[in-house]
Parts: sequence; C-alpha cells; structure tokens
Amino acid sequence: MEYFLTEQQKEIKALTRTIAEEKVLPVRAELDEKEEFPWEILKILADAGLCGVYIPKEYGGLGGGLLDLCLVVEELSRICSGVAVSCAATGLGTFTLLEHGTEEQKSKYLPDIASGKKLAAFALTEATAGSDAAGIRTTATRTSDGYVLNGTKQFITNGGEAELYTVIALTAKEKGPRGASAFLVEKGAPGFSFGRKEKKLGIRASSTRELVFEDCLIPKENILGREGMGFIMTMRLLDRSRPGLGAQAVGLAQGALEAAVDYARQRIQFGHPIIAQQAVQHMLADMAIQVEAARALVYATARMIDSGAKNFTQESAMAKVFASDTAMKVTTDAIQIFGGVGYMRDYPIEKMFRDAKITQIYEGTNQVLRNAIASELRKTKGMRA
Ligand SMILES: Cc1cc2nc3c(=O)[nH]c(=O)nc-3n(C[C@H](O)[C@H](O)[C@H](O)COP(=O)(O)OP(=O)(O)OC[C@H]3O[C@@H](n4cnc5c(N)ncnc54)[C@H](O)[C@@H]3O)c2cc1C
Repeated sequence: MEYFLTEQQKEIKALTRTIAEEKVLPVRAELDEKEEFPWEILKILADAGLCGVYIPKEYGGLGGGLLDLCLVVEELSRICSGVAVSCAATGLGTFTLLEHGTEEQKSKYLPDIASGKKLAAFALTEATAGSDAAGIRTTATRTSDGYVLNGTKQFITNGGEAELYTVIALTAKEKGPRGASAFLVEKGAPGFSFGRKEKKLGIRASSTRELVFEDCLIPKENILGREGMGFIMTMRLLDRSRPGLGAQAVGLAQGALEAAVDYARQRIQFGHPIIAQQAVQHMLADMAIQVEAARALVYATARMIDSGAKNFTQESAMAKVFASDTAMKVTTDAIQIFGGVGYMRDYPIEKMFRDAKITQIYEGTNQVLRNAIASELRKTKGMRA
C-alpha cells in the first residue's frame, strides 16, 4: 500500500531495513539464545543516525516525529523484536523529557540520546503497581537541595543498560495519583542500583531489570515539569508511545508473513507446494489483510499525533491493541503453515511467536486498553469527527 511517506521517511525505512537484514539477521538467533544485549547493533544504528530520528535537529536528531520512530521500530522488528525494543524503549524514556523538559534538561541529555551514545528508559511499574499504576510506592522526599528516592521498580526495559531513567515517584503520598512526580535519574546516581535481570519468554535480546533506589539523592533540577504532574505526564506519554509498540507488532507480523509465504512456496506435500492448497492460501490472505490493516492504523495514529492533535487516547489504544492482537494471530498461523518445523528452534517462526506475546501485555494490557477505548466511547457516544 502507498503511505505517501516523505523522502526522509522512505530513506529511514530503507536504511533500517538494510541494517536489519545485513547486521541483525545473522546474529538474531544467537542474541536470543544468549539473552545478549545488542550493543554492537545499536552502535551501527547510531552511526547511521537512526537513534534520534524523532529528536529535533537543534539537539542533534533528524527532526522527524513519531512516525519516523515507528518506521525504525517496524523494520527492526521485522527481523528481531528484541533489538527493536531497545530503540523503542529509549523513545519511551525520552518523550516526557521532550514534551515537558526545560531547555537546560533538553540540552543536557538529548544530544547524547540522539547520537545513540546513551540509551534511556521509563520506570513506572512496581510489584504492587502494574495495570493499576496508582499503586506505586516509590517515594521522592524533598530535601533542601533535591529529592531522596526510595523504592523498587520492576520489569524496566533497558534497565542496567540505559544511562538516563524517567522515574515516577510519589512526592505527596497522601494525594495518591495526584501526588506523583517524574524525575530524571542518571545511572551512577548515589543510592541507585540494579536488581534482578529477568529471564524472558521472548524479546530476549532486550534487557528487563529491577531498579533499586535506596536513599538515592537527585538534584532538584532533575524534576520534570511540576510536582504532582507525574501521572498526567505518564498517561500522555503512553498515549504517545503506544503506536511505537504497534509498529513493533506490525514489523513482527510482517516478518512472520514473509517467512510463511516463502515456506509455503517451497514445501512440497502431495506432489505440490503447500501454497497450492486453498486452505493455506486463505490463511496467508487473512494474515496479509490483518498486517496491512494494522500498519494503516499505526501509521495514521502516528501521523495524527505528529500533526499536533490534542486527544489521541482512543486511537493510540486501538492501534496498539489491533496491531498486537494481529502479531499474536499472524505468528500463530505462521507456525501452523510451517507445521512441525515451525515448532523447532532452527526456524525463526517460534522466536517470532514468543516475541509477539509481550506486545499484548506491556504499555497497558489489551484488556485494560479495551477499557480505555470503551470509556472514550461512552464520553463521545461512539461518534467520530
Ligand atoms: C518484558 C516487559 C517489559 C516491560 N517494560 C516496562 C518498562 O520499561 N517500564 C515500565 O514501567 N513497565 C514495564 N513493564 C511492565 C508492564 O507495563 C506491565 O507488566 C503491564 O502494564 C501489566 O501489569 P502487570 O504485569 O502487573 O499485570 P496485572 O496488572 O497484574 O494484570 C494481570 C492480568 O489482569 C488483567 N487486568 C488487570 N486489571 C484489569 C482491569 N481493570 N480490567 C481488565 N483486566 C485487568 C490484565 O489485563 C492481565 O491480564 C514491562 C513488562 C514486561 C513483561
């Protein structure tokens, strides 16, 4: 389908595809098997200028928007979602700074993120606070010259590898969600350490780790926005970042579709390639329809956000839910087309199937996002502009 991308966006997509095919493809199985963080690949992406596609030019980025980031994430994910997530999570850790940071904060941190020298991460989740983010217990206590953080964040993507963390903590416990604030915390801050590194089902090249704050002192100028704005900023951030996750799911589903078509053309049973069977053809046709529909929704939502729209909660949730359900369905059907070998580790399909599952869970589970979509529908009585 023709998406009328700009020349720069076409170049970004093509360049990422080349790097993914030439550099990621040969090592993806090994990265997955060894659960190894893809520093070498990230360095190649950084050298190609692809880490800061969404960061304004004055801070060293390419000056694109969310769609530009989606294109990078989609193309990487077509080959390896674990690698793609490390880029996407840096976006997640950077968007709040981009939107609410002071000029000093932006000039201090954005150039190194744009150049790929440093990665970022976003830390909200805790053992007591997953879908119910209001259950966070990490506190930030004001002192004369800054804040002291105490608490533990869990399941943080890029944990341990990133240099910069946007951390949500309570500055006024008694106010509940209205008492949360966002802070920029640097790796190496006194009292900040890393706990358990998770062993995962999929996206195993990415790092998922606990962050531990024990009387962690951070300067007062590291607060993002004002005290009490933490949850509002988080909801806005997630609305903004979900199409990126949708792009991860679209890339993954596209990779699985291509592999399934390729295999169906080669595998001979009953004297013919299995693609000659109408049952197989219809599965492939349905997969292609779903992937293209998901891509169209993700791109349209990213464009809507880039155009400066004010409210995109519903569209963003729809793009994430539809694309991630598509990735799960398409990778499941791709294994079916591969038959027994699809179940084996020698073929990339079982990895894609494992990688797909997380897209239905993080940045809001698909059940919780359906709640959010329904809540918007109740407000608008289902009417659209
Ligand atoms: C690999 C990985 C990476 C992650 N990266 C990050 C990160 O970088 N930063 C970060 O802050 N967090 C991160 N997370 C956390 C992630 O966002 C949460 O796991 C997710 O939001 C779900 O929370 P939970 O795991 O506590 O599940 P729970 O909230 O305990 O949900 C369990 C089940 O109950 C359902 N459920 C809960 N409430 C409702 C409801 N109201 N209505 C209907 N169903 C409901 C859920 O849909 C789910 O099926 C990551 C998680 C993983 C696994």
